[in-house]
Amino acid sequence: MKNYKKPTIFSLSSAPGKAGVSVFRISGPSATKALKSLTRQKFFEPRRVTLKKIYNKNNELIDSCLLFFMQGPNSFTGEDCVELHVHGSVAVIEKLTSELYSLGLRQAEAGEFTRRAFENGKMDLTEAEGLADLIDAETEGQHKQAIKQMDGALRHLYEGWRENLLNALAQIEGEIDFPDEGDIPDNLSHKALSYLNLVLEGSEKVLKTADTGEAIRHGLDIVIIGSPNTGKSTILNALSKRDAAIVTPTAGTTRDIVSINMTLTGIPVRISDTAGIRDTSNEIEAEGIDRALKLSKKADILIHVIDLTEDNSDNNIKSQIPDGDIVVYNKVDKYQKQTTLKSSISSNEIKISALKEKDIDDLRALIEKIILEKYTVGNEPTLTRVRHRNCVSEMFLSITRAASCLNKSPELAGDDIRSALYALEELAGASDIESVFDRIFSRFCVGK
Ligand code: GDP
Repeated sequence: MKNYKKPTIFSLSSAPGKAGVSVFRISGPSATKALKSLTRQKFFEPRRVTLKKIYNKNNELIDSCLLFFMQGPNSFTGEDCVELHVHGSVAVIEKLTSELYSLGLRQAEAGEFTRRAFENGKMDLTEAEGLADLIDAETEGQHKQAIKQMDGALRHLYEGWRENLLNALAQIEGEIDFPDEGDIPDNLSHKALSYLNLVLEGSEKVLKTADTGEAIRHGLDIVIIGSPNTGKSTILNALSKRDAAIVTPTAGTTRDIVSINMTLTGIPVRISDTAGIRDTSNEIEAEGIDRALKLSKKADILIHVIDLTEDNSDNNIKSQIPDGDIVVYNKVDKYQKQTTLKSSISSNEIKISALKEKDIDDLRALIEKIILEKYTVGNEPTLTRVRHRNCVSEMFLSITRAASCLNKSPELAGDDIRSALYALEELAGASDIESVFDRIFSRFCVGK
């Protein structure tokens, strides 16, 4: 933490351009000085909204505005903070900006207000990340996950773990301090182990949420795959209700990946149509197939399409499809042997006619069912970033090591517990990792 006097920063915190109201934020040690100069007033009552006229140095009226003064440390950043709600006029914004520059204030960098809040202990790194995700949230699932994290869900979780790790460490250190007292070591080690087990159980459970948490932040990848001409492009178009992909009777037409974005069950999803898989000597088609296979490996949900009108020995294809993937039997409108098929349909299989849009809604419902089964945002805390997963995994491994050498070598176990505590500090942002901070805060917008 730097200890020189921080510059006072300002920013337009609402979207730029013409609007009903525009909000300027000022934060730092000279915030009140700037306010005095703008309003020609000497005293500002904290946490009280007042209507004020603001002037530039030449005594020209800039605007009438609503003024909020929050005195540090009781403010978002922990410093003296001011909000000016001016009329959303481009000219007012320009005039006020140039006046704030002339008062010696500096334009805030992206995320700088939040970074100050973090540095002044107003939030930990996971809460700052939750706030960033909340600002980026576009769907209900993202909103639910982000607000939970911003509200301290992860912080509460790791604070509990830290408590247990410190208790375990205290037990072990007691053991090291009293090595000769007969039955004490076993007893103490046993107690330490129960603390360690609590953290191991909790962290193992939360590590399982990482895939879901990360997928909800980034959106899910759903990939449609199958042989050429099975109707993959027609399915994509029917799902998206528009002509996103080209449909032709000529096999091998889809060569690049065509994707559409939509929201299903409150989660952003990207559904991609891929080149039909077959042996080909055409270089461009082969490249398309290669891309299709690569994308399908990364997919969160795969939809395999089988053309019912082809003699494609369904059973063979089906046996290669992993459980949990969706199997769509397409072109049911041209298929005669309906009864045989019906008996072989399982819960993740569906027969449709993409061309006639028959049972497309059922396909959408099936996709939603699978999303809900695999990717529901519950009330439990979730890990939402690779950074979280790495820190918690690191902690888990250190505790596992500590638990295994607890009886034989309490000193080593103590070292491993200290490593686990360090991993938790990293998760909280308490250990000074400038490069990580830079990456997280620079992704905020200016004014936040
Ligand atoms: P893709 O190569 O797998 O993407 O298949 P397309 O979507 O391009 O479709 C190939 C051909 O099958 C086109 O002529 C489509 O009109 C036709 N087709 C697609 N779905 C159906 C369907 O449900 N029924 C019928 N009869 N034809 C379909």
